[in-house]
Amino acid sequence: MTADRRCYQCGYALRGLATTGRCPECGADYDPGNRQLEPWPPPLTVCVRIGWPLIGLAFCVGVIPFGGDGDFFIFPGYAFLLAAPINGYFQVRSMLKRHMPERRRTTGFVAFLRGLGTLVCVLAALLFLLPLILLGTCLVFGFPNF
Ligand SMILES: [Zn+2]
Repeated sequence: MTADRRCYQCGYALRGLATTGRCPECGADYDPGNRQLEPWPPPLTVCVRIGWPLIGLAFCVGVIPFGGDGDFFIFPGYAFLLAAPINGYFQVRSMLKRHMPERRRTTGFVAFLRGLGTLVCVLAALLFLLPLILLGTCLVFGFPNF
């Protein structure tokens, strides 16, 4: 594990350096007690961590034409749809925190993309929550008579 140590601030490889010290690249203090950057997980792991709700959704949508009971699969399908933006947001957030140097994570293009991603996730979650909010409102205050 020592071979993979990197500076948390700038990502500089600390290989061959003392266990505790100052990063030669950016001057940040490091020691084994500090949070360390980990190597990126394999691409398939990243896809599964972010994409599992879409796989579930595809399954729910896919079984209906093949004789699956539509009513039975509506609720899990909806749950997967709602889980996609929420899970995506938290997965990306935790992966960036663990695998990307703080300086690169919090500045420039990456910071812009993160803001954009957050916006998309929040809007998607709100959009998918809307039917649930409407249904809840109707259950509490009664359904409108059109
Ligand atoms: Zn550094």
